[in-house]
Amino acid sequence: MKKDGLTIVYTGKGKGKTTAALGIVLRATGYEKKTCMIQFIKGSWHYGEMDSSKRLEPEFEMVAVGKGFVGIIDDKNSKEDHRKIAKEAIRVSNQKIQSGKYDIVILDEINYAVNLNLISVNDVLDIIKSKPKNVDLVLTGNYAKDEIIEIADLVTEMKEIKHPFQQGIKAKEGIDF
Ligand code: ATP
Ligand code: MG
Repeated sequence: MKKDGLTIVYTGKGKGKTTAALGIVLRATGYEKKTCMIQFIKGSWHYGEMDSSKRLEPEFEMVAVGKGFVGIIDDKNSKEDHRKIAKEAIRVSNQKIQSGKYDIVILDEINYAVNLNLISVNDVLDIIKSKPKNVDLVLTGNYAKDEIIEIADLVTEMKEIKHPFQQGIKAKEGIDF
């Protein structure tokens, strides 16, 4: 069966979901493919890719719509704020996917947004079902719903075997953020 655009899911507890998606961007840019990453959750933190992404412009575009992790101690935003932002991220995602400008669109941490009930699994299924058939879609975040796993073409579960966090080692610049 010939299928142009794939739906790819990186899920699981182990580290490497977002960095795997960024690896695709690096690879695809080598063929001058156009890629876009929409960040659903972590807009208030700083990640190296927010700056290095500029070096891959104009092929790569990074869009941060999220507003910090929901429920962490210093989270001053209400759940309703998060919900509005997640809905906005869905709107932006659909717009980017339908624009015809991108070969690959990455919806980073979208699975967490579903798991936190900020958006529904149907919002995501609608995105997948309505995408132009040539566009590759990458969805990241743990707790990917069964319905999404079912419809996807490629699903990798990152399995945590060891993480430095367990030894009390804090997140490391360039590795974790
Ligand atoms: P990365 O962005 O490093 O590829 P990820 O996308 O798989 O990680 P997320 O669930 O998005 O992981 O978590 C974001 C942050 O939490 C990153 O700084 C990441 O390094 C860190 N992290 C990921 N997995 C774990 C884990 N199992 N234990 C502790 N921290 C983790
Ligand atoms: Mg991630």
